[in-house]
Amino acid sequence: MNRPGLPDTRDEARALLVLFCRRMVDAHLAYYTSGNLSTRISTEPGVIAVTPSSTPYDTMRPEDIVFTTLEGEVVEGDLPPTSELPLHTLAYRDRPDVRGIAHVHSAAAMAMSVLGWDLPPILHGFISACGGGIAAAPYARGGTDEMATLTREPLRDRSACFLRNHGTLAIGPTLEHAFNAATVTEGAADAYLRARAFGPVPEIPADDVLRIRARFWEPVWAGAAGALTHGG
Ligand SMILES: [Zn+2]
Repeated sequence: MNRPGLPDTRDEARALLVLFCRRMVDAHLAYYTSGNLSTRISTEPGVIAVTPSSTPYDTMRPEDIVFTTLEGEVVEGDLPPTSELPLHTLAYRDRPDVRGIAHVHSAAAMAMSVLGWDLPPILHGFISACGGGIAAAPYARGGTDEMATLTREPLRDRSACFLRNHGTLAIGPTLEHAFNAATVTEGAADAYLRARAFGPVPEIPADDVLRIRARFWEPVWAGAAGALTHGG
């Protein structure tokens, strides 16, 4: 792979998605068949690799991965693509800088999405991974174009948002960065809900949020950093 985490071939994309599906289950970001992942392929700008519909992750094989156009037409694969394909294809059509997407159903993030709460910038690593506090997209039924469209605004300047009464959508310049944003969002949501039980939750000062963004988050999107940006 020329760019860290961005596959050059369909076989590399298959291997990458299966690897991150296992990581998704191991990290309790999704259960059984829920959630879905996708990536661009450097040599095929019009094609994306996505996880199949209703396929358990623990037994998923590389040949189960599906390839579609940016309009969602299947070009290779025996299984149907994820029913939430519009979440992926819309972001790739809109944003050439988005090269990987992780949609997860993790516990604390789902609680936040049910409550409809924004997650403020409370932790350094969360700002590094997501660009600041994140918002919840308005409610729409899962799998619809409307749900995908409603994520445009909350993702305009962030790497993740909540989907109301549903879960998290995370984007990145690679799948690895998107997955990292989804993982860090779950940890921050869990910390926020625990802390909130004891009263108001202090946020990181606004000028520090901007400094952390500039130091850790913006370079990733500018393509200057290959490594993940946990940033302590
Ligand atoms: Zn979902």
